[in-house]
Amino acid sequence: MRKRHFLQGLSLAIVASALVVPLASGGRRAVPRIVFPVVGPVTYTNDFGDSRGRLSHQGNDILAAKKSLAVAAEDGKVTFWTSSVSAGCMLYLYGRSGTMYEYIHLNNDRTMKNDNKGKCVAGTSYAKGLSNGARVVAGQPIGFVGDSGDANGIAAHLHFEVHPRGGHAVSPYSYLKRARVLLFAAKQGAQVSLTLKGKLIAIDSTVGTLSMQVSGLTSSTGLNLKKFSRTVTLELSPDTTAVYDYGADLSFDKLGDLAPGSSIVVETAASPATLATESGAALSLVTSAVTIMTD
Ligand SMILES: [Zn+2]
Repeated sequence: MRKRHFLQGLSLAIVASALVVPLASGGRRAVPRIVFPVVGPVTYTNDFGDSRGRLSHQGNDILAAKKSLAVAAEDGKVTFWTSSVSAGCMLYLYGRSGTMYEYIHLNNDRTMKNDNKGKCVAGTSYAKGLSNGARVVAGQPIGFVGDSGDANGIAAHLHFEVHPRGGHAVSPYSYLKRARVLLFAAKQGAQVSLTLKGKLIAIDSTVGTLSMQVSGLTSSTGLNLKKFSRTVTLELSPDTTAVYDYGADLSFDKLGDLAPGSSIVVETAASPATLATESGAALSLVTSAVTIMTD
């Protein structure tokens, strides 16, 4: 909900040109596909240009659970900004494409309460171990969603700005709508296993695929996401063990007989975090165990 002085006419012109990025030649190119900057359930609207008193809103507010992971929208370099009263704990991402992204109101709380006792440092506002000036890759965790600055006490959200070629802000909305949404995020290459809860869509033990509607996720890196809905197709490894929640084993061959809609919990084999596994791309994740819930 950050405020900034802005000429009204200019802001209208920017709204009108938000969907395309004009080239120097006068041609137009499509909005580049970014990685959605927050992991987990979010809500947002196109509130770019909205009046904030006499001022104009320069980004989109992405509401998310406090301390949700904020991730790099593209490969680039980060700069920390720790001294803005209105923005609070802020980060600039200088993307390799030339577009600059601002991440504003990052977390400044030590606990899950609004204690305001944290500083704008790695581990609180910025990802653990991240240093100012570091190079990052798309999807890499870079910060935590919060309510610092003039968002203090308001629902935690990421104020996200997009500045093509480092110039004026344009509406992030079309970027966000087209963005690659991550299922989880971890440092590139880190070995991660996931526990996915949800409903079976289809299973084919001959071809080796399992599709499910995921509504809950925990990861070996400590993520715990609930209340979302995401279709994921995993590679069904022939080594997958299957059990009923009351303890009885199910043979691998019988897995294919499970009815669509069955409640299942799937453990994935540990695999390196890449943009493909993080976005749950088809067959990028491999099953290691399936539990069939009968409750
Ligand atoms: Zn805002």
